[in-house]
Amino acid sequence: MANVWIGLGSNLENPVKQVSDALIELANLPNTRLLKASNLWQSKPFGPQDQPDFINAVAEITTTLEPLALLTQLQTLEALHQRKRERHWGPRTLDLDILLYDTLVLTDEKLTLPHPGIAQRAFVLCPLAELNENLLIPSLGTVKQLIQQLGKEASSQVLPLEAKATTSF
Ligand code: ATP
Ligand code: CA
Ligand code: CA
Repeated sequence: MANVWIGLGSNLENPVKQVSDALIELANLPNTRLLKASNLWQSKPFGPQDQPDFINAVAEITTTLEPLALLTQLQTLEALHQRKRERHWGPRTLDLDILLYDTLVLTDEKLTLPHPGIAQRAFVLCPLAELNENLLIPSLGTVKQLIQQLGKEASSQVLPLEAKATTSF
């Protein structure tokens, strides 16, 4: 069993529903259990600015799927949500990234772990901190340290949609 953290994002076609549905779909993946889900957060787009704000969340799952098998499952879910790949960091109905797969460090053609964007992305770090601010990202530090390094201005670009307790499953 591996503990895995998944980053979810959407900025098209009812993003709140896209992300909420995706959390249920993650829970229903084979050989997988959803342990925790963060609140939904709203963030300014990363990259091209001429697109709607994003809704983001992070989920913690436990799974026996191997990393590449899990990636394939996530890409199937993105396709189910009619995800189209048009431009880099462009608008999308659903993006599912593997942020962390246990303590695995991997550089594969298809999969880099931990996800290379974590340290620069408040929309990943803020929901991650809700789940566990002491979580250690291999060779980078804890989530709490990374948020401090990113600074207040970056963190203020992301806002929780509603303040409720983190959901445990
Ligand atoms: P970013 O990866 O910077 O967040 P993105 O999510 O928009 O950008 P995509 O178009 O969704 O990028 O994915 C491009 C490719 O990234 C995927 O086909 C996948 O093979 C690869 N990839 C590498 N590492 C990961 C990871 N940790 N999680 C998900 N996909 C990854
Ligand atoms: Ca992404
Ligand atoms: Ca992605």
